[in-house]
Amino acid sequence: MLAQTGSLMSAMKTMAKIPSPTGLFWSERGAIACARHTPYQGSDHWIWERWEPLPIEVLPEAARIGSTLRCETCGRVADSAT
Ligand SMILES: [Zn+2]
Repeated sequence: MLAQTGSLMSAMKTMAKIPSPTGLFWSERGAIACARHTPYQGSDHWIWERWEPLPIEVLPEAARIGSTLRCETCGRVADSAT
């Protein structure tokens, strides 16, 4: 079981090709997701929706307007929000 968990984790790391300073990504349509819940990076879906790492500079502005940026699927918040 430990070996399977290790291979799963290494597969998940392989999926996160583009690092994000906040651990989150957003799309041109305003969707927000963590690295696990974005479309597969480099896929048509990823490219069409223009997914990009969520810049850390966005966080103070989001906090100012009372918006919490978090993954819409699992609720993970930005790394520097804590
Ligand atoms: Zn998520």
